[in-house]
Amino acid sequence: MTSPIRSMSVAILTVLFLPISATQATAQGTAGTVRKLERPVANPVVLSPGFRRAIMRGTRTERGEPGPDYWQQSAHYTISARLDVVEKRLEGTTRILYRNASPDSLTRLVVQLIQNFHRDDVPRIRSAEITGGYTFTHVAAADQRLEELQIPRGPGYATSQTNLLINPPAPVAPGDSIVLELDWSYQIPQVGAGGRMGWNSDDFFFLAYWYPQMAVYDDVVRWQADPFLGQAEFYSDFAEYDVTLDVPQGWLVQGTGELLNENEVLPDRIIQRLRQAEVSDTVVHVVTEADLETGFTRASADGRLRWHFTADSVRDAAYSITRASLWDVVRTNVGDRHGDGQPEYSRAEAIFRPAHERWRQTARYAQHSIAFHSRHTGVPYPYSHATAVEGSGIIGGGMEFPMMTIIGGYDQASDRAMYSVTAHELAHNWVPMIVSVDERRRAWMDEGTTDFNDGNAFADFYPGSDDGKEGEFAGYTGLARTGHEGALMRYSDFLDTPGHYGVHAYTKPGSLLYTLRNMLGGDAFYRAYQGYLRTWSFKHPKPWDFFNYFSASTGQDLDWFWQTWYYETWVLDQAIASVTAGDNGTEIIVRDIGDAPMPSRLTITLADGGTLEREIPVTTWLAGARTATVTVPAGREVVQVEIDAQGEFPDVMRKNNFWAVAASTLPAELPLAIRNELVRRRGALLDEGYLAEGELLSGAVVDDATDRRSIALEAGVQYAILAVCDQECMDIDLRIADAADSTLAEDTRPDDTPVLKFTAPASGQYDIDLIMFSCQASSCTWGGQIFRRQ
Ligand SMILES: [Zn+2]
Repeated sequence: MTSPIRSMSVAILTVLFLPISATQATAQGTAGTVRKLERPVANPVVLSPGFRRAIMRGTRTERGEPGPDYWQQSAHYTISARLDVVEKRLEGTTRILYRNASPDSLTRLVVQLIQNFHRDDVPRIRSAEITGGYTFTHVAAADQRLEELQIPRGPGYATSQTNLLINPPAPVAPGDSIVLELDWSYQIPQVGAGGRMGWNSDDFFFLAYWYPQMAVYDDVVRWQADPFLGQAEFYSDFAEYDVTLDVPQGWLVQGTGELLNENEVLPDRIIQRLRQAEVSDTVVHVVTEADLETGFTRASADGRLRWHFTADSVRDAAYSITRASLWDVVRTNVGDRHGDGQPEYSRAEAIFRPAHERWRQTARYAQHSIAFHSRHTGVPYPYSHATAVEGSGIIGGGMEFPMMTIIGGYDQASDRAMYSVTAHELAHNWVPMIVSVDERRRAWMDEGTTDFNDGNAFADFYPGSDDGKEGEFAGYTGLARTGHEGALMRYSDFLDTPGHYGVHAYTKPGSLLYTLRNMLGGDAFYRAYQGYLRTWSFKHPKPWDFFNYFSASTGQDLDWFWQTWYYETWVLDQAIASVTAGDNGTEIIVRDIGDAPMPSRLTITLADGGTLEREIPVTTWLAGARTATVTVPAGREVVQVEIDAQGEFPDVMRKNNFWAVAASTLPAELPLAIRNELVRRRGALLDEGYLAEGELLSGAVVDDATDRRSIALEAGVQYAILAVCDQECMDIDLRIADAADSTLAEDTRPDDTPVLKFTAPASGQYDIDLIMFSCQASSCTWGGQIFRRQ
């Protein structure tokens, strides 16, 4: 069995070596005729073969819109399941009517079995509880019972990792449909599917990835049957659901869809409060602490209730089942869904156990989030409710489902963090739940967009706060500076280091949406962004649809942007190389050190206090240049120049973006980058009324070492200490301690620009500790200054 592989690899090596030697021969033979560029230059984006085929067949277009022959599969699920709350077992039957809208005859069907992630014999990149996965007692297709196949030929079924492969009795013809029937059961993991479902404290269950669900067969990939490995998330088609959950009385069930038999499961007083909440702009407590004492469901003869839900146009269905949670509900304005000039409303809800105090505000947060996202995306929230569910013990952060999200207790966090996670998880209702991207391969299309949306929601809820850009940039540039980043277009489960998923899925693609907005301007950006989201609502966009839509909408060829930021790991690092005054004026030379080309926006401060804005267009860098000159005419004295003063782009090295004539007055033994940076940073402190005090501090420290300085402080005086390290250093912390070495103030953020502000409690000697991390040289230089406020 190994020999064919060996001979294959020899063949591949031979093929690979031939063109390389041919190239070398040519280069030698025609020396001097090959022009070596100073830098890599972005080329047109190369479409995947599947995407090219889709354009040829008319299912996609080069404009980033679906083609005239676009199709997608759909299904109708009828699911009935019984929960054993003591044994933590779920037993169910699933009937799937699967409609084949594709032009292909399907000889195989793929059903996702995410619970098999908990079998002991499947591959994983995150750890998992072993609960055994699915047991099937009946599998049928087209009314024919199927047997498990040892060799997957002929009608029958086989399990493969987290997939169930079904060979139907006859192929499913284009335009035809087939009914699958599956009877199944499994042990529910406590922390399931990587903390995305499970149970907690014998009073709470969250059912997600809980039923056999069709994998996606699409026009670009065909069957997308990549297994669930615990990290990259999900991809599913839109479907209708008819779900009946059989649970003991006294447990509240809420989930995706509409509850059809409210009168059979909820007492009148709870239903009345729901009706009241549906027209209320202030939160109504639908299930209260008193209800938890007296009961909040109806009773039944057999002690069990069957909760019946239906849902349309959702890509999944998830349910919370709790006997100990409060239920807060308020209406939220989702904008004008029908185009009749009237606003529509949905219910924003929070379901939480009373010990989690921070959750008492969550319904309000959900109300704001849903209204904001409806406006910001230009897609009014289409569903009847959006419910945030407290599921501490299962999850620390949050996880999204259509109309539902499970979030941790946030007991140790801040209100702002609670708002932020609520806005994030509910924003997922748009991507991937409405704009249904393939998260398994392209996590960035989902999480990056959602980070951008929740950041903007946050700034709207807390006026005056950052819109999330700074956090996204810091997260991305922190990894990019180390040089260990993997490209976004890599499949999300196959990164150099699984730990880079946070940058790959979240902060880099999030950063790029802020970057695009700043580069294109808000109007052009939102025309493209909202247009893309609207165009692909209830469809499956691929990366090239996103790229093409933006290029078409803005009328700009943005291939250089997509290739630079999505296919490569090139970084943005623009620097002021020199500023020199001559007879013709002041020449500012900008050097593009990094390989990512971007427009260079210069803010030039003049001696008379005026400022000039100049832009070096990106075409300069795209033509292969590494440097460009901006000339300020003679007679206007330049005292300061900054590239990207607004922080619009994710430059990995800001210390070289700045030049100031004032830096030349600082001691020459400090590297110029430190002098420039001290001048740049101290401006803000001087504006706040601080005055520089004493000599500049400076030193050189090796990695993981501390440089300590002793200073005398006066009781009651407000001080600020600023520290800056050279370009080789990524992270320094700053601390001030009293004589007993107890900390007075510290800045331990993962950055290279710490600043401490504090008031000295007593007069005497104190120690300043500068702690060096991530020094990329044998030692790193730092400089600092102490300020006092009068
Ligand atoms: Zn997310």
